[in-house]
Amino acid sequence: MEAKCLLMLETDAATRRSISEAARDEGYRSEAAETEEAFRRSYVFGNPALIVVDMDHEDDVASDVLRFLAEQACPLPVVLVTSFDATVLDAIGHLARLRGLRIVGVVDKAEAPAHVRRLVRSVASCAAGDLRDEMRRALRRGEIVPRYQPILDLRTSTVIGVEALMRWDHGLLGLLPAGDFARAAEDAGVFDELGWHVIERALAEFFAPAHRAWSAFLSVNASPRQLAERGFADRLLRAIRSAGGTPRRVTLEVTESSSMEHPARALALFGRLRSAGVRLALDDFGKGYSSFSLLQRMPFDILKLDQEFVRRAPTSRDTRVILSTLVGLGRSLGLAVIAEGIESSACLDIARKFGVTLGQGFYLGEPVACDLLPCLLEGAHGAPA
Ligand code: C2E
Ligand code: MG
Ligand code: MG
Repeated sequence: MEAKCLLMLETDAATRRSISEAARDEGYRSEAAETEEAFRRSYVFGNPALIVVDMDHEDDVASDVLRFLAEQACPLPVVLVTSFDATVLDAIGHLARLRGLRIVGVVDKAEAPAHVRRLVRSVASCAAGDLRDEMRRALRRGEIVPRYQPILDLRTSTVIGVEALMRWDHGLLGLLPAGDFARAAEDAGVFDELGWHVIERALAEFFAPAHRAWSAFLSVNASPRQLAERGFADRLLRAIRSAGGTPRRVTLEVTESSSMEHPARALALFGRLRSAGVRLALDDFGKGYSSFSLLQRMPFDILKLDQEFVRRAPTSRDTRVILSTLVGLGRSLGLAVIAEGIESSACLDIARKFGVTLGQGFYLGEPVACDLLPCLLEGAHGAPA
C-alpha cells in the first residue's frame, strides 16, 4: 500500500526537513510546496492525508492556501505552524476553523516536528468534536446573542420591524456574524441549538414588559433542520407565549430548501403557524433554484428578495430586469416584498423606483444590540408615541 502523504506549505528549509523526517519516521511520505500554485497541484494530485501550513510568509500565500482549502471544503486535518505569539496563533486557528477547516493544531515552529509526529499517530482519533465543544461553551457563557437589523417602510422611511440575526460575541475575534460560522456550526451539529437559543432570547428581549406598547414586528430565522424537527410549531408558539408576545407580531423567515424537501410536511407546518397568527417570509428568494410554484403552493406573506439582486442592481442592467420581474411577481401574488442588501443610496433609489415598499440593509441600518431597540422602535410606524 502506498504511504500516506503529508502536504506542507513551507519555505523554511530547516523546518521542512525536520517535519519531513518526523513524518517519514511515522510512515508518511511528504510533499512540500513553496507557492500557492504548487500547493494546489500537490493537493489535487498528491492525495494528501494531512496538511501543514506555515503561516510565516511575508506575502499572503498562507492565507490564499487556507482560502483555497476552505473553498474546496477540505475535510483533511490541518496543522498551522508559526513563530507568532500565542494570542495571534489562537486567532489564526479560530479564523481558519470558522471557515470550516478542520484545524487540529496551531503550533510554534520549534515544536512543529514533534507535534507532527504525535499527530500522525493520532490522526484517526482527532475527532471533529473540538469546535462543537467550543460552541457549546460559547452558548453557556452567553456569547451567542441576537442583533437586530431594522426593516423599513421605504415609502415613509419608518422602521416597521426588526430581524434577529445570530452573532458570536467572541472574546478574541470580536462580534462574528452568522455567515462566518454557520457552516462550521452546521458541520459540528450545533447550529440548530444556537438557532433556538437566538430565537428564544430575541423573543424575550423584544417582548420585554417595557417594550409591549410597540407595534413593530420581530422576524426570526429557522434553518431547514430546525423546521424539520417534530414539534417545531409547538416549541415556537410556546416560546412566543412565554416571552409575553403575540404570534401576530412574529415573522418566521424560511428558505426555499426547507419548503422543497418535504412539501407536504412544510405545508402543514406553515398552515398551523399561520393560523396561529405567525407571518411567513420566504428568505433569499432568487438564490439557487427558485421554484415559482412554491410561491403559489405555500402560504407565504412576505417575499425577501436575495441581496445579490439588490446589491448588483445599480451596476447591472440584467440584474435590474430580474429585480423588477421578481418585484412584479411578488406583488401580483399579493405578497409584501422586502429588498434586502440595500447598501447604498443607489440601491435604495432603484428599489423605490421598482415599487418595492419594504427594505433592509446596511445603508438603512446595521444590526444593533437589544439596548438600542427603543431608539429604533419607539418612533416606529404605528407604534404609540
Ligand atoms: P439572512 O437571514 O438573509 O440575513 C441577512 C444577512 O445579510 C445577515 O448576515 C446580515 O448581517 C446581512 N446584511 C444585512 N444587510 C446587508 C447589506 O446591506 N449588505 C450585506 N453585504 N449584508 C447585509 P448574517 O447575520 O451573517 O447572516 C447570514 C445568514 O445566516 C442569514 O441570512 C441567515 O440565513 C443565517 N442566520 C442568521 N441568524 C440566524 C439565526 O438566528 N438562525 C438561523 N437559523 N439562521 C440565521
Ligand atoms: Mg433572514
Ligand atoms: Mg436573506
